[in-house]
Amino acid sequence: MTRGRLGLIVLVTLAAFSWGCSSNPTTGRTQMAFLSRDREIALGEGAKDQLTAEYGGAVSDAKLQAYVASIGHALAATTEADNPSLPWEFTLLDSEVINAFALPGGKVFMSRGLAERMTNEAQLAAVLGHEVGHVTARHSNERISQAMLVQGLVVGAALGASQSDEKWLQSAVPVVVGFGGQGYLLKFNRDQELEADALGVRYMVRNGYNPLGAQQVQEILRSAAGEGSRPPEFFSTHPYPERRIEQINKLLRGEYAYTQDRPDQYKLHEERFQREFKSRLASLPPARDGGGASMLAAAALTPHGPGGWCALCRDE
Ligand SMILES: [Zn+2]
Repeated sequence: MTRGRLGLIVLVTLAAFSWGCSSNPTTGRTQMAFLSRDREIALGEGAKDQLTAEYGGAVSDAKLQAYVASIGHALAATTEADNPSLPWEFTLLDSEVINAFALPGGKVFMSRGLAERMTNEAQLAAVLGHEVGHVTARHSNERISQAMLVQGLVVGAALGASQSDEKWLQSAVPVVVGFGGQGYLLKFNRDQELEADALGVRYMVRNGYNPLGAQQVQEILRSAAGEGSRPPEFFSTHPYPERRIEQINKLLRGEYAYTQDRPDQYKLHEERFQREFKSRLASLPPARDGGGASMLAAAALTPHGPGGWCALCRDE
């Protein structure tokens, strides 16, 4: 590489740093966020249909979808700054796999397989709140931005700021969706997972849910993992269970301890959940995605994610 070319790369990288860093009103920390809000939204919109299809489509029951969406929208309404005005959408996927994920710009998904294991509304709010937290903390944007720097802007060519919006989406959407739904952007690092957990608990409490539901979700996942034959896919998009349980317990004993003394104010909503959601869910025909295809796809992946992206993972 010539000296001039190296200099140019350094210059571009430094410039990227200076215009790419901003303070996030949700987390209060400074982060790299090269994608504009509009592009985040376009990316989520562009990838949502393909991703939904990979997980058996949306559950075709308007009441169940409305129930999930009403909880999701209530959580989103209590987010910071301009986040409540994002085009939020909450989709219950017709899939037996146990998973949940979010796309930038406010598209949140939860599998039927995970919902079926829940016993109260606070658990549902915990999962949606966690995914809402990934969106408001702009974790996908952060990962893209880091990737653009780490890969010497190779990814930048694919996600380039100078491309027309249409061309940009054509190259960016496959990166998000990836193989078998295990797209690069659906994977977050440990600090981002812990941050999303803390934000999820924050949004739960703001909506009058007992944050104990967040701890119960971790127990559901742990017991599902113990069943052996089909470990929750959730762990591939949301790793580090032990560390996460530890943090949630700490929040329950510390910052949010007061919620545990006020069951009249911070509720689990078991009865409403059974009546309006679980009983209806149980009457549905079998899921269109039995989990087989997704599991095969997951098995084909390296521990670090889809082939070619390992170098970008800084999970350890
Ligand atoms: Zn997560």
